Amino acid sequence: MQGTLGGGLGPGPSAVDRRALLVCCFILASALGQMNFTGDQVLRILAKNEEQLSLLRDLESLKPQKVDFWRGPARPSLPVDMRVPFAELKDVKTYLESHGLVYSIMIKDIQVLLDEERETMAKSRRLERSAGSFSYSSYHTLEEIYNWIDSFVMENADIVSKIWIGDSFENRSMLILKFSTGGSQRRAIWIDSGIHSREWITHATGIWTAKQIVNEYGKDGTLTNILNDMDIFLEIVSNPDGFAFTHSMNRLWRKNKSSRPGISCIGVDLNRNWRSGFGGNGSNDNPCSETYRGPYPHSEPEVAATADFITAHGNVKALISIHSYSQMLMYPYGHSLEPVADQEELTWPVGSPWTGPTTAASSTPSASSSGTPGTTASCCRPPRSSPQPRRRGWPSGPSWSTP
Ligand SMILES: [Zn+2]
Repeated sequence: MQGTLGGGLGPGPSAVDRRALLVCCFILASALGQMNFTGDQVLRILAKNEEQLSLLRDLESLKPQKVDFWRGPARPSLPVDMRVPFAELKDVKTYLESHGLVYSIMIKDIQVLLDEERETMAKSRRLERSAGSFSYSSYHTLEEIYNWIDSFVMENADIVSKIWIGDSFENRSMLILKFSTGGSQRRAIWIDSGIHSREWITHATGIWTAKQIVNEYGKDGTLTNILNDMDIFLEIVSNPDGFAFTHSMNRLWRKNKSSRPGISCIGVDLNRNWRSGFGGNGSNDNPCSETYRGPYPHSEPEVAATADFITAHGNVKALISIHSYSQMLMYPYGHSLEPVADQEELTWPVGSPWTGPTTAASSTPSASSSGTPGTTASCCRPPRSSPQPRRRGWPSGPSWSTP
């Protein structure tokens, strides 16, 4: 999995070559009209108390569309990360300093990382073409992913099939993979990735997951048992219009691309458009917000297609949505703070001793909207011996950014 924005794939070109390549990338990007983020920074702020958190939330209101929270103000123990456009940096830093908010610069110039990412992708694409293979450790465009889906289904037709579930706002196909070993209307697990289009690592995670399911069936006991009894549906590109736009125009686009008469801002946050908890905490009614929920539940064709498929199936028992940037596991339902009945089982599933990292993660809110490439989506739990107080969903308060 590509682990960093500028993750290389082998010995790189010389410094001079590299500079030339970057210049070429920049010229090409400019020619294509892609948005440039030169000088934009990501600041990390550690709020000391609720009052400081409130000041950060005020900043979001004062600078709508200007400050892009990758990890929103949640609680004092959690850092707040936000992208600030170059033109706003002076004002925002002055605001932070005048209120005693201590910050550090996490990313000094986002465009540098984006240029490196583009360069890495171009290099990987050349290698793929020359080798006639598909790299599972690189990012791909929508067309490349859809081509891969066709090949993958053809090569593994005994276990995988492709299903069209609808069209996006811009009439792109919504495709899912069905992993099945037989039966009819079996109980099923739904997994989706890429509902926030800029979270590229999640698309890559979806592709990698598909490959692993095929590779591990018959080898891994747990997976084999699941597939012998259940089907798995996997939607790798849940927001195809937004995803195409991140490649063609704006790498940091998060919403879909729907437009409505009389509304100047484009797009709805598809992950705020579900009927469940519509309009609750963490969503916004301002069409220009990154967390705009849309005019009504399932107003967006991408969400409606997914909801219709799952509803019509009628036997889907689990839904998993993969996001990136924050390292956390969130339980249903994101709009509520009430613990679910099976909270304990979700935290420490029976029969699956925890062997992963001990970083305290939580289902607690937080917000990552960015999905900046280079962040792997994973989750972690506290060790059994030191259970942490856990909360779920978004805290009450204005506009948290993601997932
Ligand atoms: Zn997300």
